Parts: sequence; C-alpha cells; structure tokens
Amino acid sequence: MSPIPCPDLEVLFAELEAGEGPCLDHAAGCDACAALLEDHRLLEQDLFRLADPLPPPSLVANVMARVAESPVPQRREVWTGLAILLTSLGAGLGFLFTNDRALGRLGTAFASTVGDSRMFVEGLFSGAHALWSTAGVAVACLVAFVVLSSLMGLKRLVGSPPSLSEA
Ligand SMILES: [Zn+2]
Repeated sequence: MSPIPCPDLEVLFAELEAGEGPCLDHAAGCDACAALLEDHRLLEQDLFRLADPLPPPSLVANVMARVAESPVPQRREVWTGLAILLTSLGAGLGFLFTNDRALGRLGTAFASTVGDSRMFVEGLFSGAHALWSTAGVAVACLVAFVVLSSLMGLKRLVGSPPSLSEA
C-alpha cells in the first residue's frame, strides 16, 4: 500500500493531463485510483467517439453483404455496360482525334463549320477518309481493340451477380 492518501480528483486529473506527478505515481500503486483513472479514460474515449465517429472496421464487408442481398436489376447493369462501352468508344475516338495528324484537318473543318451540320458531316467524312488512307490498319486495330475490350467488360458486368454474392 502507498503511504500517500488518495489525492483529490481535480489534482489527479490535472497531473494526468500533465503526464506526471506524485498523485499519478500514487494511482499506479492504488487500486481505487487506478480504477478511477481507467473509468475516466473510457469515458474520454466514448466522448471522442461521439465527437468524431469512425466507421466500424466491418463497414466494407457490411456494405458488400447488403449489395449482394439486393442485386442491381439486370437491365440497369446492361445500361451501365452500354454507358461504359460508349465512354470507352468515345475515349478511343477522342484519342485518335487528338493524336493523329490526319485528323488535324477534321479539327479545322469542325472549327470552321460549327453550326453547319451538313458541312460538319462532310468534314467528318473527309477527315475520316484521310485518317483511313494514312493509318487505316492502325485505326482498325485500335477500334477493334476498344470495341472488344468494351464488350468483354460488358459481358463481365452482366455476369457479375453470382460472383458478387460469392464474395
Ligand atoms: Zn488512491
């Protein structure tokens, strides 16, 4: 037993805040004071949790379980896949448009004929024709790659519900 009597709570907590002191040394050897400090620590922890609630570590697992319980309707997934398909197609074409010199002509034609759809279409075709004549094989390969990868993604997306519930 410690010879020092149990200190005043205010002094004890002040020393706890400071990190050292005779009362804190006493608490280390006194069951009553140690229990008091432990209570205080737990209470403080709860208060911090209230002030800034952290997501539970099982949050991701819970969300995945709930997603698996209520699978997205097939139709919506197809639309999502189509959106991905169109987006990747657009990205592929955008890549072509911004990178191929042959399409520089299309860019200028587009810029000078915005608003005039007929001339725009003509410009589009002339640009596409120029692109095809200069880099036809490369364009075909790239477009085929984009389409195939999009279709693979679409297929995987449509076939995903079983694998999702497995997870
Ligand atoms: Zn004590």
